[in-house]
Amino acid sequence: MRSFFLAFALVFAAGLPAEAASFSQCVAGLKNAAIKAGVSRGTVRKALDGAKESEKVLRFSRQQPEFTTPIWDYMAFLVDEQRVADGKRMMRKYDRVLRRAEKQFGVNRYVIAAVWGVESDYGRETGDNFLPHALATLACNSSRRRDFWRGELIAALKIADRGEIRMKDLYGSWAGAFGQTQFIPSTYLRLAVDFDGDGKRDLVNSAADALGSTANYLKNAGWRRGETFMIEAKVKPGYKGPSGRNKRSSLGTWTQRGVTKADGSRLSGGGSAGLLLPAGPRGPAFLVFRNFNAIYSYNNAETYALAISHLADRLAGYPALRTSWPTNDPGLSRAERLQLQKLLLANGYDIGKADGKIGPITRRAIAAAERSYGMKPTGRAGRTIYRKLGGR
Ligand code: CA
Repeated sequence: MRSFFLAFALVFAAGLPAEAASFSQCVAGLKNAAIKAGVSRGTVRKALDGAKESEKVLRFSRQQPEFTTPIWDYMAFLVDEQRVADGKRMMRKYDRVLRRAEKQFGVNRYVIAAVWGVESDYGRETGDNFLPHALATLACNSSRRRDFWRGELIAALKIADRGEIRMKDLYGSWAGAFGQTQFIPSTYLRLAVDFDGDGKRDLVNSAADALGSTANYLKNAGWRRGETFMIEAKVKPGYKGPSGRNKRSSLGTWTQRGVTKADGSRLSGGGSAGLLLPAGPRGPAFLVFRNFNAIYSYNNAETYALAISHLADRLAGYPALRTSWPTNDPGLSRAERLQLQKLLLANGYDIGKADGKIGPITRRAIAAAERSYGMKPTGRAGRTIYRKLGGR
């Protein structure tokens, strides 16, 4: 449901409805629906008068992943040293708020901070799409999820109507997630909390509100106070036993199956866990507990929940994963992605401005560079091509 993740991984089937009305006719219908739902005419007008279809939103919503992102790329990008360092700094800054959220909602404060770090880079990247226009664009162009987007649009208008978030602050991802922890409007209405006590639930301008709201979200998703969420584990070579997030067994049973902690020591503690082997038995192994499912529900993806869990561990001072990913071409951090683009430019590949975002143009240039080195052209921003181009 959240911006970054959607842009990264979700396949969203958009398509013009067969009897496509023009956009302005469609928006007129949405305005009426919003007024019927109780939104004031003034707010509806302010949000949607003269609304134009967003080309950018349509482009993102129709984007099909060109290739499956390997988990080591995803993890290298989301849990890089910069995000760990920034997170530790932000956790010091918001120490009191995070401890209060942990106490009140029972949710591990490192996990709250990790969600913040992944969703918006600790409040720095909250999205630049005007929500009413983005959601109207989606509602008028999606056949399969039209009702969903219309519902989110009306929810966004209600938020502005109540004055909890000003219209001018209602910017977010192409898919309507907004604020420092990227709630979609209906989730906001259901679960956002005022955690700085000013009477408004302002997930855009108040880090405290955003952090408290995420804690409340996770609590509602079934988080259990004091229980762990994930531990890195290790399986025996050639492990063929059960795996899966919800195939939970006691740690004693996992011990019988030869599973240990990542450092080879014996598993200890209570609770039941499922075993995840996201890159097969040769890669890192994870025992995931019930609280992992609460994190999972934030984006309905195991890779996402693994990234959040691992970042939380890193913020708490635990080391990087002990087992390497089974690849000879590991992924790049954000700093390295930016550097890769600079190297492409320096090597004469015209990719426009280096912004650290690996889009289709950068991928085409990477493929061309790979070809020039006699490599198979994949377009993937990996360490091998990075080194070939002179990256260190
Ligand atoms: Ca507030």
